[in-house]
Amino acid sequence: MVKETAYYDLLGVKPNASTEEIKKAYRKLALKYHPDRNPSEGDKFKHITQAYEALVDPSKRKLYDHGGEQALKEGRGNGSCYRSPMDIFDLFFGGRDGMPGRTERKGKTVVHKLSVSLEDLYNGSMRKLALEKTIVCDKCKGRGGREGAIGLCPNCHGSGMEVHVQQLGPGIIQQIQTVCSECRGQGEWLHPRDRCRNCSGKKTVRVKKILEVHIDKGMKDGQKITFYGEGDQAPGIDPGDIVIVLDQKEHPFFQRNGNDLLMKMEIDLVDALCGCRQTVSTLDGRTLLVMSSPGEVIQPGDIKCVPNEGMPIYRDPFEKGQLIIQFQVRFPASGWLPQHKLSELRTLFPPTDEPVVTEDMEEVNLVKFDHTTENRHHYGKQVYEEDEYLEPRQHVQCNTS
Ligand SMILES: [Zn+2]
Ligand SMILES: [Zn+2]
Repeated sequence: MVKETAYYDLLGVKPNASTEEIKKAYRKLALKYHPDRNPSEGDKFKHITQAYEALVDPSKRKLYDHGGEQALKEGRGNGSCYRSPMDIFDLFFGGRDGMPGRTERKGKTVVHKLSVSLEDLYNGSMRKLALEKTIVCDKCKGRGGREGAIGLCPNCHGSGMEVHVQQLGPGIIQQIQTVCSECRGQGEWLHPRDRCRNCSGKKTVRVKKILEVHIDKGMKDGQKITFYGEGDQAPGIDPGDIVIVLDQKEHPFFQRNGNDLLMKMEIDLVDALCGCRQTVSTLDGRTLLVMSSPGEVIQPGDIKCVPNEGMPIYRDPFEKGQLIIQFQVRFPASGWLPQHKLSELRTLFPPTDEPVVTEDMEEVNLVKFDHTTENRHHYGKQVYEEDEYLEPRQHVQCNTS
């Protein structure tokens, strides 16, 4: 005789039930009262699980049979044998019963790329993304059919697993456990006429969903925006997440480097010498008039910056990085000035070192350098490659010696 029958009653089994019967009974009830399916039932699932965990363990069951719930509490110091509801899949498919084919407790994370402009990242933006996703069928609450019509799979008796016996040799038998082929590990069986019409018994349906993606000022290329729980749903597991990865399109003028914006600016030689005024259109549609100080000479490759005209700083958008400008100097074409004016121009420049010409010197003339001759190997390859951005310009000196 057992002292109490409350746990057996909870599972709806007789006190002399076998462990198999207890497992079966629990599985059926757990599927019914799992909080994912039946949130209104409150602690019912917890109590069933408590009863199950006491009865499925032979030593705990012995303790319970002899002294009831009280004995269990005293006998096992750390008492609570209740696990999180998500452990339901562990109970059936997890490692404890040595069963393979563990089912994930959380749905897959779905990653989408979202193409954005540098303007979007500067100004902030809201984008609507139309997605298709799987949700638990609301007509049948993810049961797949009429309530009460779901029975245990006759093939696996609800365990979700099949055991195959293989004769490997005389007297050698191998047992292989696989996921049940009838119910694909679900452990359930449903007559076709009882199937939910909305989902055809599949428990889930595909729906269109519009996601509003808020791009905050200062967000970066490759930054992830996570929509927790917006991924595909499946009965009994947490839905996965949707992750949006920002993919910034190249901008025709600006390059981004952290919070700074980089740009190239081409100015005329006269502006490089006498001072320049250039306009720059910002990413929020303003126009900057960029000016150098009078008398300041800008050399080819010079780098200057405008503070606070870079990218807004993420989560601190009133602060901005700097606008970094690399100058290129446009020289006038050969012959732009009549020869008689050249000496006049020369007088305006600082004096240069004139070589002292002696009779033993040989006069040679500069001619155009031909890139296509084998000389290119001799002069090194970097001369012909595009200059790296913000690298000082390489100057080729045509050396005649
Ligand atoms: Zn349905
Ligand atoms: Zn089955």
